[in-house]
Amino acid sequence: MTKQYDILIVGGGNAGISLAAKLQRDGAGRIAVADGTPLHRYRPMLNYAAGGQADMDRFERPMRSVVPEGVEWIPDYVVGVDVEERTVLTFTGLTVGFRHLVLCPGLTPWWGAIDGLREAYGAGWAASAHVPEYVDSARRLLAGVAAGDRVVANVPPEPSSCGGTVLKALFLACAAWERAGILEDVDVHLVTPYRRILDRHTIDDALAAAAAEYGIQVHTQAEVSAVDHEAREVVLTTGERIADVAAAYVTPVVRGPGFLTEAGLADGGGAGLVDVDPETMRHREHPSVWALGDAAALDTRPSGGALRRQVKVLAENIQAADAGKPLQKYDGYTVIPVMVSRDELVLDEHVRDGSEDRSIPGVDVTRPRRSTAAFDRFGQPRIYWQRLLKGKV
Ligand SMILES: Cc1cc2nc3c(=O)[nH]c(=O)nc-3n(C[C@H](O)[C@H](O)[C@H](O)COP(=O)(O)OP(=O)(O)OC[C@H]3O[C@@H](n4cnc5c(N)ncnc54)[C@H](O)[C@@H]3O)c2cc1C
Repeated sequence: MTKQYDILIVGGGNAGISLAAKLQRDGAGRIAVADGTPLHRYRPMLNYAAGGQADMDRFERPMRSVVPEGVEWIPDYVVGVDVEERTVLTFTGLTVGFRHLVLCPGLTPWWGAIDGLREAYGAGWAASAHVPEYVDSARRLLAGVAAGDRVVANVPPEPSSCGGTVLKALFLACAAWERAGILEDVDVHLVTPYRRILDRHTIDDALAAAAAEYGIQVHTQAEVSAVDHEAREVVLTTGERIADVAAAYVTPVVRGPGFLTEAGLADGGGAGLVDVDPETMRHREHPSVWALGDAAALDTRPSGGALRRQVKVLAENIQAADAGKPLQKYDGYTVIPVMVSRDELVLDEHVRDGSEDRSIPGVDVTRPRRSTAAFDRFGQPRIYWQRLLKGKV
């Protein structure tokens, strides 16, 4: 028999669990979360793990334990959506019905976009914490760098899962090489698609200063186009070739899971994100379908911090739609936190038009600070487990 829910959420990551908890608190009806992965990770800690400052075991919990009480967990991946019938099909063949469908399955690596990268990951000389399964490999890669080595890292193009935070792992690694007395003899290259390191006026000066301090050569307006596994070369879209690479901290291009495009729910862009109105988060053609998080086309840089506002607006909008009331608007708020030294962090917060939007009045978080670093490393995880995943946004 087909199970039927008022709200079916696809994806039990930061977005899906936070939203389920908020809707449950609001008493919004019968809710289920479909996700086939048995583990829920606090992803921002992955960069600290790669940089040698954290152990991921402490930041992973069984999915069963984070699904809110009263919400049903369907431990299965969704492989198809029939919008007309209002059903989804799961990997094991279940058909599940919905009144509202919320899509938040995150982003998946698109290995084909960078020729040779997968082979280099397999061989262990390329890795990134932004592919969570490779976080241990990323930590070993950075910890194994020796004097005389050449290292290449990249800022991934958008969409990315808070892509600017790859710099956290890189700068933490540079700080460790400095302490080990080898930094001067490590040739570090950073490849970024932007004109400056992240094209965020709030923190670009601080990022450039950190890169200069660590002697990093920055290749701007460039992306990694290929990795030559045999020759140990990283090839850029500018035609430049960086040879004799010991460690490639290269994050793959990502895109939405294929079932979104197959179901006709994705936008026309190559990344296959869910085609929602970026303000209301409702699908442009199918009013029973909504999306938030990394997989939604929200016209802003995705991040976990962005979800604080997205969850609130989307929870209200689903209930407003049922009540025939006007919908709220998400302003595109997002964050990019970057460690610029071993113990200092800069934080960019902005909305869709690019203007700054500070959440802590009176504190200039765009300047390197120990207090914000400590908050990001120790305070945020507590808030994540105790408040965000409990729907207290
Ligand atoms: C290394 C790293 C560091 C980060 N650092 C920061 C940071 O410092 N600050 C910050 O604000 N943000 C950070 N982020 C970004 C933040 O983690 C994401 O923006 C956030 O997790 C997005 O939540 P989401 O639920 O959309 O996607 P995810 O958290 O990726 O969850 C998606 C879920 O969907 C599931 N899924 C996938 N396909 C299917 C399917 N077919 N059916 C059912 N379920 C499916 C997956 O198993 C997963 O559980 C970081 C991300 C990474 C990867």
